[in-house]
Amino acid sequence: MQDRTGPSGVYRYEDKPARPVFASLLRGATLKCPACGLGAMFRRYLKVADTCPHCGEALHHHRADDAPAYFTIVIVGHIVVSLVLAVEMAFRPALWLHLALWLPLTVILTLVFLPSVKGALVGLQWALRMHGFDPNANDEIVESFDAGLTQASPRPRRLDFRP
Ligand SMILES: [Zn+2]
Repeated sequence: MQDRTGPSGVYRYEDKPARPVFASLLRGATLKCPACGLGAMFRRYLKVADTCPHCGEALHHHRADDAPAYFTIVIVGHIVVSLVLAVEMAFRPALWLHLALWLPLTVILTLVFLPSVKGALVGLQWALRMHGFDPNANDEIVESFDAGLTQASPRPRRLDFRP
């Protein structure tokens, strides 16, 4: 693996043990902590626990944002649209029957898939040491960016590209 030590000499990829990507993703998909696979990842329906109740691994670093919703739409859309087309071609039912079938099914499937998809994404972020899951990550970049947005300054911050 390539040495990624930057100018500051802080970031060294080799210092950290590798995390299994696929296993972490699967543990997250079963709503378990990606580190130990035993503790519950969620403390409420979609609320990720700050730390794993079993091994204490910090899980609050995740930034799943709207990626779970995006992937859930992709999955549920493929299932429901396939069924709609198949049922329409086979039985040609009335429109009200289509609505009565597919609208509740879409809602139910979305609510069923959403936690697993979010769990898988948090597991993936943990395995790849994304965001705060990397102890050497420089979180200041995000903080200063947010500070620039929330400031009521009339002029935008000037970027300084001098070395
Ligand atoms: Zn754990």
